[in-house]
Amino acid sequence: MSGPSFQYSRAANVHDALVQASRPGAAYLAGGTDLLQLWKAGAIAPAEVVDISSLSLDQVEFSDGQLSLGALARLSDVASHPDVKRHHPLIASAILASASGQIRNMATVGGNLLQRTRCAYFRTEGLACNKRIPGSGCGALRGENRQAALFGASTSCVATHASDLAVALAALGAEVEVLGAEGQRRLPLRDLYRLPAATPERDTNLTAGELVTRIHVPDASRFAARSTYLKVRDRASFEFAVVSVAAALHIENGRIVEAGLAAGGVAPLPWRLTRSEAALVGRAPGPQAIAAAAEIAVEHARPLAHNGFKVALLRNAVIRALQTIGGQP
Ligand code: SF4
Repeated sequence: MSGPSFQYSRAANVHDALVQASRPGAAYLAGGTDLLQLWKAGAIAPAEVVDISSLSLDQVEFSDGQLSLGALARLSDVASHPDVKRHHPLIASAILASASGQIRNMATVGGNLLQRTRCAYFRTEGLACNKRIPGSGCGALRGENRQAALFGASTSCVATHASDLAVALAALGAEVEVLGAEGQRRLPLRDLYRLPAATPERDTNLTAGELVTRIHVPDASRFAARSTYLKVRDRASFEFAVVSVAAALHIENGRIVEAGLAAGGVAPLPWRLTRSEAALVGRAPGPQAIAAAAEIAVEHARPLAHNGFKVALLRNAVIRALQTIGGQP
C-alpha cells in the first residue's frame, strides 16, 4: 500500500530552511510529535517536509535574569536545566505536566507552542470541522463540546489550545522571536496566536514559511518562590488539560506587588487573566483577594451545552493555585 507522495529535505542552516519552506505546501519538521500524528490522521498533507531538527536553535541561555529558549530545545532539556529549575520553576513544572517522558525527550519548545488543537473533530477524518476543511462546519459547536473553549471562541470554531508550556509563558509575559523572508521580528506570545473568528484554519499570525527561532522570558526571579502550574485532567499522566492555571505572585510586606496569571484548556490560545492579575495587586494574599480574582477570571465565560462544568473548575483552580503560593512567608 502506498501513501501520498511528498518531498523530504533537510535544512543545512536557517536561511536554507526559509528558502525551502517558502515553497507551496511545505511544512517544518522538528521533533515531529504533533506533525506526524496530524499527518496520520489526515488533518494535514504536506507536499514537502523541511527537516529543521539539526539546526543550532536548541540552546537554553540564562543571563541577567533573562531566559532565552531556542525553539528547537527539547522540552526535557528545558525542564531539567538548572537555571530554569532555579529561576523559572513555573516553566519547569508546566513542562513536566505535559505529555510523557518519551514525548518530552523528542518534542521541541517551538513545536509545543505551535501544536494544533486536540479537538476530536479536527483529528478525525470525515467529520465537519472548519479548521480542517474551511466551510465544512463546526461539529463540536452542537456536538461533543466537553473540552470546548469558554473564552475567545466563535460560531466557526470552539476549540482550545493544548500547550501547557504556553500557559506558563503567557503568565510570565514571554515574547517570541520569528524569522521570515521579511527579516526578524519579536512579538508578545499573545500575538503569535489568533482567535478563530471566521478563519479558524489559521491558528497563528505567522506568515508563510516564517520560523519561530527563540522564546524570550523576562526576569522572573521575583516570582521564583511563589509560582505554580495547576493542571486538572481526566487522568494523572499523558493527558491534556481540561483546565489549567499558571500562577505567579510577588509579595512584599504582606501585599501582592505583581501577579502573573494565565489559564489553559479554556480558550483557543493561552488565556492570560489580566483583570484578575490587576485585582490582586496591592492586596494581601488572603481569601477575599483570591476569591475576587477567581470570580473575575470566569466573568465573561461563554459555556456551551457540555462544558459548563469548566466555569466552576476554572474558578476553583485559580483559588487553589493562588492559595498554594499565597501563604505568608
Ligand atoms: Fe473543528 Fe474547531 Fe469545530 Fe473543533 S471546534 S470541530 S477544531 S472548527
